[in-house]
Amino acid sequence: MKPRIAIFDLTDCEGCEVQILNSKFIDKILENVEFLNFRLGQKINRWEGFDVAFIEGVALTSHELELLKKIREHSKFVVALGSCACFGGIAAINNFMDLEEAKKYVYGENADKIESLYVKPISEIIKVDFMIRGCPIVPEDFERVVSDILAGRIPREHTRPVCMDCKSRGNPCQLLKGNVCLGPVSYGGCNAPCPSAGMPCDGCRGPLEMPEMIAELELLKKVAQQDDIIRLFRRYAPMVTPFKEVAGGKL
Ligand code: SF4
Ligand code: SF4
Ligand code: SF4
Repeated sequence: MKPRIAIFDLTDCEGCEVQILNSKFIDKILENVEFLNFRLGQKINRWEGFDVAFIEGVALTSHELELLKKIREHSKFVVALGSCACFGGIAAINNFMDLEEAKKYVYGENADKIESLYVKPISEIIKVDFMIRGCPIVPEDFERVVSDILAGRIPREHTRPVCMDCKSRGNPCQLLKGNVCLGPVSYGGCNAPCPSAGMPCDGCRGPLEMPEMIAELELLKKVAQQDDIIRLFRRYAPMVTPFKEVAGGKL
């Protein structure tokens, strides 16, 4: 029997799911797995036992919190798909403001009708077996994880910083040019598309396990204001250590 896969989206932009559809190997993947549930990719969806559930986005409502728990109950292996699910992502901007005031600002007199919770990485709500990082993910990571699962292997985590990808592409260093780059403290494996296009890395794949934060912050303070550094660390992975400390103003 083919592995039964589900892809769920909570609150998010669905960009990571689009990356799955962008995969060059999507036809090959479709031949080898059965998508029981994939709202963006197919019309008919079923709730049965899932071998693997990929979950994109964050739980911003109590309905989504319940949905997360239900997915976990129905799944053998759960993968957090993209930086929202892994680290809180862009929606975690909620966590740094008064939620009631923010709702009034956005929804005006309808604010009371809108539910919006503070944001957590999904691993703080349910057990997560693996993370696919990035905002958005790169299709190659999805392909690698699916092929590992098909072969009965537990997928492996990247361990090298973005700087390694960047150097292997021969890019000039943005930090040495005086730009704020999070490449030294962020997980690589993305092939450094941002520095390769002349922009610094914003750390969308989240922090390395043991990043050299003291050295990185010393460098960043030479080229940027404290508020700008805090905002940068709030962008993609503000709810995981050690980015969490800087995002909270500790630098
Ligand atoms: S990680 Fe980025 S691309 Fe993926 S769903 Fe969240 S905001 Fe969209
Ligand atoms: S540009 Fe950024 S990612 Fe590339 S080597 Fe310099 S610090 Fe590292
Ligand atoms: S270079 Fe940095 S910001 Fe760009 S994709 Fe890679 S980790 Fe994300």
